[in-house]
Amino acid sequence: MSAHSSENGDKSGMAQQAGSPLPGGATKKWRAGVLGATGLVGQRLVKLLAGHPWFELTEVAASERSSGRSYGEAVRWHLDGPIPEVARSLIVKSLDPSLDCDFVFSALDSSVAGGAEDDFARAGYPVVSNSKNHRMDPDVPLLIPEVNAAHLDAIPAQQKNRGYDGGFMVTNPNCSTAGLVLVLKPLADAFGLEKVFVVTLQAVSGAGYPGVASMDIHANVIPFISGEEEKMESEPQKLLGRWDGARFIDAGLGLSAHCNRVPVLEGHLECISVSLKKIACLKEVREALRNFEVSAELRSLPSAIRHPVMLLDGDDRPQPRRDVHAGNGMAAVVGRVRECPLLDIKLTLLSHNLVRGAAGAALLNAELLAARGFLNRRVSAEEAQLAAR
Ligand code: NAP
Repeated sequence: MSAHSSENGDKSGMAQQAGSPLPGGATKKWRAGVLGATGLVGQRLVKLLAGHPWFELTEVAASERSSGRSYGEAVRWHLDGPIPEVARSLIVKSLDPSLDCDFVFSALDSSVAGGAEDDFARAGYPVVSNSKNHRMDPDVPLLIPEVNAAHLDAIPAQQKNRGYDGGFMVTNPNCSTAGLVLVLKPLADAFGLEKVFVVTLQAVSGAGYPGVASMDIHANVIPFISGEEEKMESEPQKLLGRWDGARFIDAGLGLSAHCNRVPVLEGHLECISVSLKKIACLKEVREALRNFEVSAELRSLPSAIRHPVMLLDGDDRPQPRRDVHAGNGMAAVVGRVRECPLLDIKLTLLSHNLVRGAAGAALLNAELLAARGFLNRRVSAEEAQLAAR
C-alpha cells in the first residue's frame, strides 16, 4: 500500500511478508511461548504466531483459572476467524519458568508480570514483554526497532547487573506511546524537538478484557486512564534518548499528555502539537514524515513495513473505523498536518493499540532480537529425555 492510500490493509490483523528467510543461517524456527496467552494481547500474539516464518508457538501460559485446560477451552476468543489449530489443543501452563520453548512473549496482567518476567529471565529465557513493569528499569531496553534499535546494546549490561545467564528482558512501550514516538522520530531527526503536547482518544480494548464497564463508556467519554499520562510523559524520553554504554540518557523533551477513554473498539487517536528546534515549513514537515523509511536490516524482518508513518491527505482522516488496519495494523497513520498557533505544527495520529501498540510491537522486537543473534536454542524436553537415556 502506498503512503498516500487511504483505505486500510489486512483486517485479520497483520500479515507477515511471505518467504522471509530465517536469519543468520538458522535452519529451524525458534520455539515461542506466550505468557498471558488468553488475554486480548495474548490472543493477538497467538494469531500472529500461527504461520510465522521464523517462530513457532509451542507453549501458552496464563492464570490458575486457565491452566491445566486446553487453550481452546480456556480462552474466550475475541478475534475474527477461528482459534489457530496450532494453539487450540495446547495445554495452558502456569507461570512456572520451565516451558518448552526458546523464548517467551509476556502479555501478562501487570499485577503478576513483574515477578514472572524476572523469573523467566533468571531461568535463562529471553522475555519480550508488553507489560509496564520493567519498561523504565535502568538496564532494560524499551524498544521500537524503527526508533532505537541501538538500545539493544544494554542487554549484556542487564545480564551482568542481574546475574542472568542467557536470559534477559526487552519491553515495548505503552499502546499510546508507540504511535506517538514513531511520528516524533522523523521530526526529531530532521528538525529537533522542543515540546510536545498530546491529547488522546483511546479505544476500550486498551484496558484489556472485559475492561471498562459498558454502562460507563457507552455514549460517553472518560477523561482519566490510570497511570497513562505518566507513561506517555516518561516513555518517549527513554525511547528518543540514548544508551551511553552504562545507562540510558533521556531525550530531555518538554512533554504534556491528556488521556481520555472513548467508545471506540480498536485504535487510539491522538491530537499532537509540537515545537521544533529548527524552523520548518509545513511542506518540509510532511516530507520528513512521508520519507521516513526503515533500514535494510529492518526491512528483512517479517513484520516490518517500509514506511511506518503513513500520511493521509483527506481533511477528515485518520479515523479509527476506516484506518486502524493500515499497514497491517503496524502503521502510525497521520493526517491534518497544519500550523499550530501555540507551538509550531499540529497533526492527528491513529495507531492500532493491540497491534502496533502491543502484539505486533512485541513480535517485531522478537524478530529484531532473532536477526541480531540474541535468541538461542534451548534444549527441548524431548531432546533432554533422549540425552538422559
Ligand atoms: P487482559 O485481556 O486482561 O489479559 C491478561 C492476561 O494475564 C490473561 O491471559 C490472564 O490470564 C493473565 N493473568 C491475569 N492474572 C494472572 C495471574 N495471577 N497469573 C497468571 N496469569 C494471569 O490484558 P491485555 O489487554 O491482554 O494486556 C496484557 C498486558 O499487556 C498488560 O500488562 C497490559 O497493560 C499490556 N498492554 C495492553 C495493551 C492493550 O491495548 N490492551 C497495549 C499495550 C500493553 P487468565 O485469562 O487465565 O485470567
